[in-house]
Amino acid sequence: MDPLTLLRGVLDTAEDAARALVGRERIRLAVTGLSRAGKTVFLTSLIANLLAAGKGARTLPALSDAAGGRIRRVFVVPAGTETVPRFDPDAHLGALAADPPRWPERTEDFSTLSIAFDVERRTSLGGLLPDRQVTLDLIDYPGEWLLDLPMLRQGYAAWSAETTARLRHGVRADAAADFLAFVDGLPADAPAEDALAKRGYTLYRDALRVCRDTHGLRFLQPGRFLNPGPRGEAPLLWFFPLPEGAKGGLADLCARRYAAYLEDQRATFLDPYFSRFHRQVVLVDVLGALHAGEAAFTDTADALSAVASIISGANWLERLLGAAPTRVAFAATKADHVPARARDALAALVEHISFGARGRAEQSGAAVSCHAVAAIRCTEDAVARLEGQAVAAVRGVLLQDGRGATIYPGEVPMKPPEPAFWEAGLFSMPEFRPPRLDPAGASGMPHLGLDELLAWLVGDLL
Ligand code: GDP
Repeated sequence: MDPLTLLRGVLDTAEDAARALVGRERIRLAVTGLSRAGKTVFLTSLIANLLAAGKGARTLPALSDAAGGRIRRVFVVPAGTETVPRFDPDAHLGALAADPPRWPERTEDFSTLSIAFDVERRTSLGGLLPDRQVTLDLIDYPGEWLLDLPMLRQGYAAWSAETTARLRHGVRADAAADFLAFVDGLPADAPAEDALAKRGYTLYRDALRVCRDTHGLRFLQPGRFLNPGPRGEAPLLWFFPLPEGAKGGLADLCARRYAAYLEDQRATFLDPYFSRFHRQVVLVDVLGALHAGEAAFTDTADALSAVASIISGANWLERLLGAAPTRVAFAATKADHVPARARDALAALVEHISFGARGRAEQSGAAVSCHAVAAIRCTEDAVARLEGQAVAAVRGVLLQDGRGATIYPGEVPMKPPEPAFWEAGLFSMPEFRPPRLDPAGASGMPHLGLDELLAWLVGDLL
C-alpha cells in the first residue's frame, strides 16, 4: 500500500473514532444530474421518506438496516445564514400532497438543505446503545458543472480542437450552423476585440441551448454557459472554441478566459464544495435518452463516461483538489417506467455507458456503483399484449389526462444498442402522475431502490 493511502486510512480511522466519541455525524451528500434527470424529485422523495421513517414508517428499510437500527426523530434543520439558495422542502412536498398531486417544480442551479435524524441502535443481543445523531447535508448542483471536470485536464487549444470537431458532426452541425459560419469566417489571426468575443460566445451558447433543448444532447461544455449559477453571466464567460490553427489576439483572449473560467469554477465550486463532498450521486435519465433517439443516447453516454473516468480514475481529482468524494454512485432514474426485469438491464446499461466494456474493476479513485432507481414509483408491473404475445409492461395514471393506462415501454438493452434497436422505433416514455403524499407525511413516497442506493452511499458512515 502506498504511504498516502496508508496515511489516509489512518486519518479516516481517527476521524471515525472522533465522530463515534461525540456521537454526532455530519455527512455531505452531493446530488447532481444532467438537466431533467430527476434531481428535484429524488431530493423531495428522500426528504419525504426520511421524515416518514422518523414517524415510524419503514420507508427506507435498507438504509435503516445499514444504520443498524431505526431512524427516528427526523427534522429539517432550519435555515441559518447560508449564502447559497435553500432547497424548498415545503413547496416540493406540498406539490405531491396536492389533489391531484403534481410533480415538484424543478430547482435551479444550486441549493442545499440539511436533515438531522437520530438512529436508535441495538446490540446483537437486543440491548440499547446510545442513539446516533446524524446530519445529512444535501447539496444539489447542476450536473452540467461536472462536465467542466474533463476541461481541467485540457488546455484551451486541445479543448477547442475537440469541441469544434464534435460540433461539425450530426445534429450538432445543424444546431451550430450560425456559430460555425461565424468562426469559419474569422481570419486565423482575428484581433482581440470584445465585440467579436461576445458575438462568438453568444452564438456558441445559443448552439449549446439548441443541442440541449431540441436534440436532448448532454455533452455540452462549459457547464456555466447553460447554467450560469447564482452569479449570472460575466465577461469571464465570453469565450468559445476556435478552429485548429487560430492564433492571434482573439485566440489569446479566448485562451485567457478559458483558463480564468476554470480557475473561477475551481475557486467558487470545486474547492469550497466539491472537494468537501463525502459522497456523490450522479443521476442520469437513461430511459429518457433511449426515448430521445440515437444521437441523444450516444451523447449522454459520452458525457457520462467522460465524468466517470474523471471521478473514478487514478485519484486525479484528489491530487487536484486535495480531497474528493470517496464513493460515487451512478443511478439511472425513473426506473418505474419499465417492468422488473428491464430494471436489471437498466442498471447494467448505466454501468456499461459509465465505464464501458472495461468495467470498473480497475478504477483506483472513488469506489463506484451503478443503480436503477425510481425516486417516486408511479406504476405497478403489468402484462400487455403485443401482436398476440404477452409482454411485461407497467400500469400507471397518465399525467396528461388522469387516465389509467398499461404501457409496454419497449426493451431496455443491457449495453448500448445496435442500429436495429433505433430502426425498430422509439422507446415509449409517457409522463405518469405521481401518487399522492398523505398530507401528514406519515407513509412517505413509494420508490424503487432509493433505500439501497442510499445504504450504499452513506450506510457505512451511519
Ligand atoms: P431535474 O431537472 O433533474 O430536477 O428533474 P426533476 O426532478 O424535476 O424531474 C423531471 C421530471 O421527470 C418530473 O417532473 C417527472 O415527470 C419525471 N420524474 C422524475 N423522477 C421520476 C420517477 O422516479 N418516476 C417517474 N415516473 N417520473 C419521474
